[in-house]
Amino acid sequence: MDIKVDLKGKVAVVTGGAGVLCASMSKALAAHGAKVAVLDLRGEDARRVAGEINAAGGTAIGVAVDVLNKESLENAKAEVLASFGTVDILINGAGGNSPQATTGPDKSFFDLTVQGMQNILNLNFMGTVIPTQVFGQVMAEKKKGIIINISSMAAYTPLTRTIAYSAAKAAVSNFTQWMAVHFNQEYSKEIRVNAIAPGFLLTEQNRYLLIDEKTGGPTKRGQDILNATPMGKYGAQEDLLGAVLFLCSEAASFVNGAIIPIDGAFSAYSGV
Ligand code: NAD
Repeated sequence: MDIKVDLKGKVAVVTGGAGVLCASMSKALAAHGAKVAVLDLRGEDARRVAGEINAAGGTAIGVAVDVLNKESLENAKAEVLASFGTVDILINGAGGNSPQATTGPDKSFFDLTVQGMQNILNLNFMGTVIPTQVFGQVMAEKKKGIIINISSMAAYTPLTRTIAYSAAKAAVSNFTQWMAVHFNQEYSKEIRVNAIAPGFLLTEQNRYLLIDEKTGGPTKRGQDILNATPMGKYGAQEDLLGAVLFLCSEAASFVNGAIIPIDGAFSAYSGV
C-alpha cells in the first residue's frame, strides 16, 4: 500500500486556528495541499496565520469566530463556502483551561465560581459540538467528511486541579464516539469522527502550571508530569501532526470513533 497524505483540493476548517497547536496543524494541512480556513476568536491572529500560509505558497483565509455562538459560526461558514465552496475536514481545536476553573493554594474547590467552571465546560465541550453542527451539516449533505476533535489526557483519568477542563475533555471524547456512530447511522458511512488526546505539551495554556515563574524550573506539578511520562519529556507541537495528517488521509479510511493518545506513554503507565 502506497501511503501518502495528499489533501489537494480538500477544504479544511480549523477552529482555534490562531492558537499554538492549531496554527501548526493549519500550516501542516496547507503544506499537504488543503485550502485552510483558520477560525479563531482572535480574528487578527487568525488572519495573520492565514497570511503566513499564503506567503508560504499555500491557500488560506482567516475568519473571526466565536465557537460558542452559532450565528457567528454560520457567518463563518458562509465566508468559507464563498471562498472555497465546500468543507471536507473540520478540526475542532478551540479550547483550553483558565485559572478561574482551577483549584490551587489560593483557590479551594469551594471558592470556584459557577461561571468560571461553566465557561471552561462550554468552551471545550459546546465549543466542539456547535461547530460540528454548523460545518458537519455540509458533510451530512454531501455524505462525506472528516472531523478531528482535541481531547486530552485529562479525559482518561481526571487531572488534579483542573476540574472543569477534565470533565469537559471527557465529554469531548464521549462526543467523538457518539458523533462517529450518529453520522454513520443517520447520514453516511463516509464520515469519520476521531480525536487526538495530546499528552503534556508546553504551551501558553499551561505554562503557568508547569513552569515556576520565579525559578524558571519545573513546578512540582511539572516534575510530577515528567516522572509520570515514561518517555521523560514534554511533547512538542509537531508531535501531533503525524496523527492529524494520518486521520485526514485515505490511510485512515477505517479509523472512526477513535481517540488516539499522543502522550509518551503517560496514559499507559500506572506509576508502578
Ligand atoms: P491555545 O490557547 O494556544 O489555542 C486555543 C485557541 O482557541 C486560541 O487561539 C483562542 O483564541 C481560541 N479560542 C478560545 N476561545 C474561543 C472561542 N470562543 N471561539 C473561537 N476560538 C476560541 O491552546 P493550545 O495549547 O494550542 O490548545 C489547542 C487545543 O488543544 C485545545 O483544545 C486544548 O485544550 C488542547 N490541548 C492542549 C494541550 C497542551 O498541552 N497544550 C494538551 C491537550 C489538549
